[in-house]
Amino acid sequence: MSKEDAGGSRQPEGYGKLQSLLAESCDLEKAASVLGWDQRTYLPPGGAVARGEQLAALRGLVHRKKTSPELGQLLEGLRGYEESMPRDSDEASLIRVARREYELAARVPVALVEEHAQASAAGYRAWADAREAKDFAVFRPAMERLTDVVGRVVAAMGYEESPLDPLIELSEPGLTAARCEALFAELRAALVPLAAAIATKSPGDEDALVRQRFDGRKQLDCGREAVRAIGFDFERRGRVDLTIHPFTTSFSPDDVRITTRVDENDFGNCFFSLLHEAGHGIYEQGLPAHLRRTPLGRAASSGIHESQSRLWENIVGRSRGFWEFFLPRARAYFPEQLSGASVDDIYRAVNRVTPSLIRTEADEVTYNLHIMMRFELEKSLLEGKLPVSGLRDAWNEKMQSYLGILPPTDLEGVLQDVHWTRGPGGGFQGYTLGNVVAAQLFEAACAASPGLPDRFASGDFGPLFRWMRERVHACGAKHRPEELVEKATGKPLTAGPYLAYIREKYGRLYG
Ligand code: ZN
Repeated sequence: MSKEDAGGSRQPEGYGKLQSLLAESCDLEKAASVLGWDQRTYLPPGGAVARGEQLAALRGLVHRKKTSPELGQLLEGLRGYEESMPRDSDEASLIRVARREYELAARVPVALVEEHAQASAAGYRAWADAREAKDFAVFRPAMERLTDVVGRVVAAMGYEESPLDPLIELSEPGLTAARCEALFAELRAALVPLAAAIATKSPGDEDALVRQRFDGRKQLDCGREAVRAIGFDFERRGRVDLTIHPFTTSFSPDDVRITTRVDENDFGNCFFSLLHEAGHGIYEQGLPAHLRRTPLGRAASSGIHESQSRLWENIVGRSRGFWEFFLPRARAYFPEQLSGASVDDIYRAVNRVTPSLIRTEADEVTYNLHIMMRFELEKSLLEGKLPVSGLRDAWNEKMQSYLGILPPTDLEGVLQDVHWTRGPGGGFQGYTLGNVVAAQLFEAACAASPGLPDRFASGDFGPLFRWMRERVHACGAKHRPEELVEKATGKPLTAGPYLAYIREKYGRLYG
């Protein structure tokens, strides 16, 4: 019983068995994602406890499947077949990636996985209550429990240098805390003086245009039009819902859900979070459909995922060309607020650089400083150098020293991100990696298709969309993030294109 594969060699029976085991795990994971999506959109507060139990049960089941001795034996038996196939073939990639995941997962006992899921559900509940009360103390006991659980998870996974390393390996295969810190140091050296120089030139009210009152329903319609224009498929394969902390989830390339929030006094909040999530959604809709029930049918890493959202949110959505195209459309929704505005006015308004409290609303220049401080805090938490009881003060101190501002309450401070409802190790490095990767991919796409950015002005995003489809989306999770970047752009991952982009754009904007 064997089938012919693409390379013409005989497909061993074990390979078919492997595919069906992996498909089952993928289906169960997607079922858990549906419960998670519902939890963060429509679940009434009373349903939270039961939902936590349901998620824990499903995640435990998935974990048992992913670490079953049967799977381990199959993977072992397929080593010869893997070596006989080209490294980038579906078959060799599937075995390689499945083995990597198996080896990582098998180190964590199932009871600990279930405990983590329970603690996360309780954490989400406590976080929502704490936000209501604007008081970190309400979340603190849950965060203490989470820090303890995550500490035991990383101990079980094992690490040599940093307790963050195994968690980074889960979301960014091949990367380490040390590599992230080196990248951050390079960025910090360039961005801190740049932000300071801009502060001396900023009149302080560049964004008044987008800070008027904008009807919430119209904001959603306007944002939807923009998202459709860049290529997110709403018609058959997507939808948008409201949430506290915008996110994207996908149950298959044909069912991708994005979410947003609306602030009636800030046009940019909903608009750019929609473009951001649509960038994630476009990636999910473009993942290889034939690999959808395998570990290859997903994003290469969180950082690569984020490169797609930052690309459409910032490099495209905050470009002058985009606003030449979209301003007349936005004006149709908001004639009163935007009729007197020129393209330059809106371009400046959506690119204001100013130290701000909320990461998701931060400009492109200061954004990475928000990431660095979170990364440092969670590293200290896991290394036992910072107790959870000191987290709020440590947060405020870093805000003061990096950005020169202090949150008025914990809501705008330490409670702003949903990530720590799963404990420290929230994967924040992926955001900065995303910014850096987005710029490098965009540079390569422009080199391959001269004049590409000029076409934004006529609403033509096709060349960029297609380049990403071919070079990034279609690969699924075959390559590690740094490999993917190198294959797609022909160059190793560096901060160079990102820093060049920032200097060019903001040098012009702020003279
Ligand atoms: Zn994102």
